[in-house]
Amino acid sequence: MGDSSRRAIVTGAAGQDGSYLCELLLEKGYEVHGITRETTENPKAGGQQSAIVWHPGGLGDQGRLDDLLEQVAPREIYHLAAASHVAKSFDNPWAVTEAIGGNTVRLLEAMRSVCPDARLFHASSAEIFGNPDQSPQNENTPLAPISPYGAAKTFSTHMVRIYRQAYGLFGVNGILYNHESVRRGGDFVTRKICRGAATISLGQQENLHLGNIEAARDWGYAPDYVRGMWTSLQHDKPMDYIMATGRLHRVKDVLEAAFSLLNLDWREHVVIDEDLFRPTEPTRLIGDASRARQTLGWQAETRFETFIQEMTESELEKLSDSPNQ
Ligand code: GDP
Repeated sequence: MGDSSRRAIVTGAAGQDGSYLCELLLEKGYEVHGITRETTENPKAGGQQSAIVWHPGGLGDQGRLDDLLEQVAPREIYHLAAASHVAKSFDNPWAVTEAIGGNTVRLLEAMRSVCPDARLFHASSAEIFGNPDQSPQNENTPLAPISPYGAAKTFSTHMVRIYRQAYGLFGVNGILYNHESVRRGGDFVTRKICRGAATISLGQQENLHLGNIEAARDWGYAPDYVRGMWTSLQHDKPMDYIMATGRLHRVKDVLEAAFSLLNLDWREHVVIDEDLFRPTEPTRLIGDASRARQTLGWQAETRFETFIQEMTESELEKLSDSPNQ
């Protein structure tokens, strides 16, 4: 195998962030190894898929993971694999706990025993803060999750810190606020709205059912965030970083942005569905990414309006290409 300083493993390589990150690493000349759950999984990456060395089978088996890390001997490990849906974590709390917490611990253990000099990026989440008193949040804000997903991410975040302190591993938690793109899963509200607006504008659908449209998030653009992930592992010290835009938008703002692009009034098409409300809802999640800006020179560059436009146009294009899908 080639130069080990440019060899990386990406877990969750087939997902939104994983696919963008693999593309970035390939552009930088890395040998990229992607771990995915299933052989049948359809990665979101475009033409670069064939350049990735795929390792299907997931992170569930410690022995297998140890062997894989030994065989690949990565310099960098990006741990992005997770059950990423907050609402679904209420329906399936045990599976989420195991998939997020268990996989992170197995990966840390494999690193500790097989490649202790490798660098690990762990994709943590703003959900670890729950409904914080302090807004915007920074790296010192107390962790107080309010969803099973947030609790599992909190556990994983602590474990990365513990392995950093106890064993001196180079582990970074990127505390990522919501980040969207044309590759976002269809269950997330930005993608759902952009697709809904496109479908309605083509006359293929009349209404869009949504939950709490007053809910607000700090929404950024996924390709900006994967750049932050890579940058955080190039720094000489491992630290945790908030990655966020520092700006809050409501679901209503996503509606306004997407529908107005297509000359539609969302008020005529949105149906509020109580079943889509969450048992608990964070209300004040805004990130202060000063440390990432000062230490890494990173910031979320792409504006909300810009990526909502890109997502809406992409949905329109896909629907126009294959109107029956
Ligand atoms: P999350 O922050 O990871 O949960 O990202 P989502 O995109 O799933 O949800 C963002 C916000 O949109 C949450 O506050 C939801 O309550 C709100 N929301 C309102 N209607 C919907 C809907 O129909 N689907 C989803 N996924 N979220 C909705």
